[in-house]
Amino acid sequence: MSTDITIPQNLLPADGRFGAGPSKVRAEQVQAIVEAADSLLGTSHRQAPVKNLVASVQNGLKEMFNAPEGYEVLLGVGGATAFWDSAAFSLVRNKAQHLSFGEFGSKFAKATDKAPFLAASTIITSEPGSVPVPAAEADVDVYAWPQNETSTGAAAPVKRVAGANDDALMVIDATSGAGGLAVDLAETDVYYFAPQKNFAADGGLWIAFVSPAAIARIEEIAATDRWIPDFLNLKTALDNSLKNQTYNTPALTTLVMLDSQIKWINANGGLAWAAERTAESAAKVQAWAEASDIAAMYVANPEHRSNVISTVDFDDKIDATAIAKALRANGVVDVEPYRKLGRNQLRIATFVAIDPSDVQALLNCIDYVIEQL
Ligand SMILES: *Cc1c(COP(=O)(O)O)cnc(C)c1O
Repeated sequence: MSTDITIPQNLLPADGRFGAGPSKVRAEQVQAIVEAADSLLGTSHRQAPVKNLVASVQNGLKEMFNAPEGYEVLLGVGGATAFWDSAAFSLVRNKAQHLSFGEFGSKFAKATDKAPFLAASTIITSEPGSVPVPAAEADVDVYAWPQNETSTGAAAPVKRVAGANDDALMVIDATSGAGGLAVDLAETDVYYFAPQKNFAADGGLWIAFVSPAAIARIEEIAATDRWIPDFLNLKTALDNSLKNQTYNTPALTTLVMLDSQIKWINANGGLAWAAERTAESAAKVQAWAEASDIAAMYVANPEHRSNVISTVDFDDKIDATAIAKALRANGVVDVEPYRKLGRNQLRIATFVAIDPSDVQALLNCIDYVIEQL
């Protein structure tokens, strides 16, 4: 196998980062860190400079998502994975229903299913690359699924479950979807994410829009005798977030990068602009795969194809691992498929920070590498 392929300079993208997270950070975000160096970095998160930064993040997100009346933005430390445990403790009254169609949806499903203080969860599964459909159940009080299953590139509709109990909560994992896919927050009670995907920041934080019904549920469960670790208690997160703080110390550079990305998206036209830009990039990948006789989109149903993660299967006679290796040697990185999927595949992130023209350049580079292999 040839690993010494040199891709001509004029074919290379301006930025070679196409990973699903951590993902491309824009230079302006790094500059924002430099500008925060004296006034903000290394200062207390209980004082005005950092609290104002948190407020800017919260208000910028409300603007971007056109948050309905009464929705609040909560923040906490630990990323989306920590939020799954928080949700099991602080959002599920008795029983959750999950859609599980890839790695991330399945992990949250396990968290509630194993919780000893909850009834066993209903877990509706489908083959990776497809999307299952939720079904109303009388005893379910939380419905949960990922908007974008980052491990497979399948995206699910975000709509309240027809026939669900009036006070059932819709809890959407938007870790890779938020900021890159359109959404109507009124169809959700909790829309949560981590900042290292479309928001192009570092990981380690979770952010959640919560509806008035979700806030009522958090208060309701906090008043019961359920034992909840303080770190995971969403009541603690709620109280701190309303004061523009987190319960424990956050990474300040992450907040600076996140705030910078929110401002960039809002200045360009907000979520509608972001969703158009990711759609443009994803359409390039799909058109390229359609025209190819050795590549095909992994997600068979076009309606389930994600605009922020494209997964492309290759014909057996082409080794996708060799393509990824040659690209990496030329500074074009992180298009390897999700490790546990085990397919002859490339996974290409088309998050909003990634320029559509760079996506086209990547496709040209893939064509070049295939010719040389
Ligand atoms: C990346 C990702 C996660 C995990 O996020 P962490 O911040 O690493 O915990 C969860 N859900 C989805 C859909 C993701 O893409």
